[in-house]
Amino acid sequence: MKIIMLGAPGAGKGTQAEMIAEKYHLPHVSTGDIFRANIKNGTELGKEAKSYMDQGLLVPDELTVKILMDRVSQEDCKNGYILDGFPRNIPQAEVLDKALAELGDKIDHAIDMEVPDERIIRRMVGRRACVSCGATYHVENVPPKKEGICDKCGDALILRDDDREETVKNRLNVYHEQTQPLIEFYEKKGILKTVDGTKDMMDVFKEITEILA
Ligand code: ADP
Ligand code: ADP
Ligand code: ZN
Repeated sequence: MKIIMLGAPGAGKGTQAEMIAEKYHLPHVSTGDIFRANIKNGTELGKEAKSYMDQGLLVPDELTVKILMDRVSQEDCKNGYILDGFPRNIPQAEVLDKALAELGDKIDHAIDMEVPDERIIRRMVGRRACVSCGATYHVENVPPKKEGICDKCGDALILRDDDREETVKNRLNVYHEQTQPLIEFYEKKGILKTVDGTKDMMDVFKEITEILA
């Protein structure tokens, strides 16, 4: 099963992708997590990606598409995967489609998580992330058991550089201009599923499992 998570930054894609990954034993592939791991490790890719990420802009397609294609061609992705944060624009979606079609394959579900912009800012400024394992928390909504420490791996949680209010506004603009057109793109393909992302995270998860069942 191949799933794409769609939705604004902060809609809850990563949170739901983690739960889907666990339940269905599929890898959670997040381009944002891959970039952040590269930034943490000081790679060339990380340096280049950071200059865009800090401004809330998309990392150029040449870079992003290659990374994503390398990742999904790994052994653990052969039975499917959950894409979180990719595709982010129509050209990325077209490359993915074409690459899958060449293998006689396709995406099964594109799940759009709807959350209005005014809720997004609150979610993002309270978000705390674990760069080691990709887990996400929220200081009020989803607090870790021990403040500042990841429940899953014990590493320190960070406030992402790009989760400051000004950058979040840029990211929302980029989302509306470049990413939102993907909703229509997948609707035309007949694989779009929409969920109400404002609900409690377990209720959202229930809606998603009903779609995937
Ligand atoms: P995305 O991957 O779409 O950017 P995240 O999964 O990182 O979004 O979620 C953004 C923030 O909102 C995080 O702090 C997360 O803990 C919190 N969050 C996720 N789902 C919900 C929900 N259903 N209700 C309230 N807060 C949520
Ligand atoms: P969020 O979960 O809040 O939506 P991500 O972790 O998915 O954020 O992405 C963080 C940043 O990484 C984006 O603002 C962008 O700069 C970069 N990025 C992630 N995925 C892509 C992609 N598919 N194309 C271009 N840039 C990307
Ligand atoms: Zn962790």
